[in-house]
Amino acid sequence: MNEPRINIGVGEIHRGKIECTELEDGTPVILPYFVMRGVRKRPILLLNAALHGDELNGIEVITRLFEKLNPMQLHGTLLAVPVVNTLAFRARSRVDPVDGKNLNRLFPGKKEGTVTERIAYHFFHKFVKKADFGIDLHTGMKGHLLVPHPRIRVLSDFSPSLEHARALGTEIIFYHEGHPGMLNIAAGKIGIPIVCFEIGEAGRIDENYIQAGIKGIINFMKYFGMLEGEPEIPEKQILLKDYIEIPSPIGGIFHPKVNAGDVIKKNQLIGIIKSPFTGEKRYVKSPKNGVVIGIRSQPLVRPGTTAAWLMSFEQGNVLPPLKKHIKEVTSRTFSITKEKGIEIK
Ligand SMILES: [Zn+2]
Repeated sequence: MNEPRINIGVGEIHRGKIECTELEDGTPVILPYFVMRGVRKRPILLLNAALHGDELNGIEVITRLFEKLNPMQLHGTLLAVPVVNTLAFRARSRVDPVDGKNLNRLFPGKKEGTVTERIAYHFFHKFVKKADFGIDLHTGMKGHLLVPHPRIRVLSDFSPSLEHARALGTEIIFYHEGHPGMLNIAAGKIGIPIVCFEIGEAGRIDENYIQAGIKGIINFMKYFGMLEGEPEIPEKQILLKDYIEIPSPIGGIFHPKVNAGDVIKKNQLIGIIKSPFTGEKRYVKSPKNGVVIGIRSQPLVRPGTTAAWLMSFEQGNVLPPLKKHIKEVTSRTFSITKEKGIEIK
């Protein structure tokens, strides 16, 4: 059977895999998956990580949620693919090491395509299409530390759901154009809201960002009634459009003076670049008021290498407080059987 086993008994957890295609020596290319079935089947929340194979924090977020959550406290089903691009994961690489393709530009995939296109096809048709909504976990690239935030992508024929992004409970929400073939755009076009959630930096396991990822998903699940309790959503959330890349003026070693997530003023010092060859020292300052969404964490830079990513407040909107529509999930009593699932009295 090459379909994920999603219909499992109430309170059960299942870990399995399906095969997408094979390599030149016949080695199968798999999609590993976890399912946790709560007291009801729906909604089905899809969690996935490692569309880019070197982005590790999201993998840990998913495995921890499956260790931590009690399925009998879950209303709905968690369907998770902890590593979507296993080939890139094995190669410690963002993209497929053989064809160099970026999986997150290939959705909804091709049944008879290249290996990466087939991974996209199987993931999209066998997991994404079964979900009611999803959270797609990412990080910044290697050397590029990103503050936790959701990314909303818009194309002319696609409007994403701001509410789903806000339910993660971060203060900053990022809004930009995106590319065709991105998972959240392809899924959104068939009516399945998927939020891209950025937490940290590729190639690293970072506890603070893992905790931020878990917190965001728990908020999302509370907001949509999959878990009891109130989500922690800041009263003020800011929608910011695009970002400014702040380049290094010279080559050398970058010494950051701000952190990812810091709110900074125009002309504030972002960092210092020192050349160990000439002794030259240059100060990198902020061109605008804004928030540092990303900072260079690998210190060696060339001229033009981005030292920091800034979102300007000039293009920002403070969103009105989110109207809560938390469903009452605790006040009923119910009986549960393996055969019938939940029966509400
Ligand atoms: Zn990514």
